[in-house]
Amino acid sequence: MTDYDVAIIGGGHNGLVAATYLAKAGKSVVILEANSEVGGATTSVRAFPQYDAMLSRYSYLISLLPDQIVTDLGLDFECISRKVSSYTPYSRNGKDSGLYVARQWDKQTHDSFMDLDPSGAEWAAWQDFYNEIAEFALKIAPSMLHPLKSRSELKAEINMPKVWDYLMERPIGEVIEARFKDDLVRGVILTDALIGTFSSAFEMQANICFLYHLIGNGTGEWKVPRGGMGALVKELVRVATAAGVEIRVNSRVSSVESNTESATLILADGSSVTSSYVLSNAAPQVLARLRGKTPPVSLEGSQMKINILLKSLPELKSGIDPRLAFAGTFHAHESFAECESTYLQAKGGNVPEKLPIEMYCHTLSDPSILSAELQDAGYQTLTLFGLHTPAALFDADNEAAKAAALKAALASLNQYLVEPIENVIAAIEVKSPLDIEGDVGLPRGNIFHKDLSFPFREDNQVVRWGVETDDPRIFICGAGAIRGGGVSGIPGHNAAMAVLEASA
Ligand SMILES: Cc1cc2nc3c(=O)[nH]c(=O)nc-3n(C[C@H](O)[C@H](O)[C@H](O)COP(=O)(O)OP(=O)(O)OC[C@H]3O[C@@H](n4cnc5c(N)ncnc54)[C@H](O)[C@@H]3O)c2cc1C
Repeated sequence: MTDYDVAIIGGGHNGLVAATYLAKAGKSVVILEANSEVGGATTSVRAFPQYDAMLSRYSYLISLLPDQIVTDLGLDFECISRKVSSYTPYSRNGKDSGLYVARQWDKQTHDSFMDLDPSGAEWAAWQDFYNEIAEFALKIAPSMLHPLKSRSELKAEINMPKVWDYLMERPIGEVIEARFKDDLVRGVILTDALIGTFSSAFEMQANICFLYHLIGNGTGEWKVPRGGMGALVKELVRVATAAGVEIRVNSRVSSVESNTESATLILADGSSVTSSYVLSNAAPQVLARLRGKTPPVSLEGSQMKINILLKSLPELKSGIDPRLAFAGTFHAHESFAECESTYLQAKGGNVPEKLPIEMYCHTLSDPSILSAELQDAGYQTLTLFGLHTPAALFDADNEAAKAAALKAALASLNQYLVEPIENVIAAIEVKSPLDIEGDVGLPRGNIFHKDLSFPFREDNQVVRWGVETDDPRIFICGAGAIRGGGVSGIPGHNAAMAVLEASA
């Protein structure tokens, strides 16, 4: 077949979500994926051929995927709650300790805050802040799968003016400084504003990033995909295929043209596909190039993704059980001041000497990604996400900059370990923003394709679903749409709804 109702450029998870909604509604749909596998940045791979371990190579935790999409599409896919939210080691007055936060705050969480700040002020401020945000998350999350509200409509509907003001109107760095005194506590909060976003705490881009990290599915909880990210894609392929979607891999789209009747996609091998509508799961910058237009401006990616297979978990100087320390998000070199100073170093063109990093051990929640032999031998995985490493640092010499950034990442970790992590590493791979662009086409390695945007339209802006382009036949169904970014399926759902409305 060469003529379809809808052709989708790219088979990332969002393309698969959009395709399935459309096929279930009776549309003929083809997905054209450049790579030999679908999944994009949502995939599991056997990264180390000698070890039977399927690692989530890029994205690794899920929060933003609404339950509604799982139910609508009939996905047999489960996410596991982590007992531990985060652990942040520190060394003060010659004593090694750590801030432990359980997902459901318990006595250990309380005691940990009191150790850090015996006045109790930080613990009280923490509870107030996150209780407010939890209420806000519940109210805003359902709006993500509906046509965009305007800024003032959404603000009125949520009706929490104080929280709206500090999340949407004032730099999050100012808010954190005003409500918390301790640099370490401030940093634990700030990191949610910096994941995948090269920003100071005092720029509004950080607020947008913060918001998306706190509102997923109405709880903001980050869960472990059972079986790894590849399990989600496997299920999406199953339901897409069952609904009649045609998936073509090794099918890179090289240009897109449209007229009032239809659109034509030319593939790299010279063949073509025509369709009534085109959805781009590729980034808006990629789509613009395919259409011969000027790409939109965006920040570049700024993270290192390091995948590690460990022979065993490392011991910590603080003495905490490593099965607790690494079960949630483990922060190192991520105090507020450290995040700001490394941002400035990186902005000045230097790989920071110590990277702000966060890590978690997938196999503590879900050992199923390892073979029985590796499980029996005590192997574990570590996912390490390093901040403030913009693509520009890697342009001159990717391999040399990766080596420097890896050293900086391990230096951040090793200061809190009894023995260097190198002693227990069985295998390791390092992905810079340039590698990520080369592998899955994320422009300059930006994990959200393009800068995230607030989940509303400005009062004078005319957009309905946040997936529209200047061509009524072409929509964005990937992370670069308004309310896209992350493993959510939201832009896939919203683009499918936009096509169904347009073709009704
Ligand atoms: C290192 C890393 C860690 C991350 N961690 C998390 C996390 O833990 N949790 C989370 O929620 N999010 C995370 N993210 C972000 C998340 O993975 C992405 O935002 C999300 O996967 C985007 O999904 P998508 O379907 O929109 O696009 P993608 O996954 O980028 O898929 C786009 C697809 O389009 C294809 N394509 C591109 N150009 C063409 C073309 N010309 N022709 C045909 N096909 C084309 C690509 O090959 C790709 O398969 C992370 C991302 C990275 C890179």
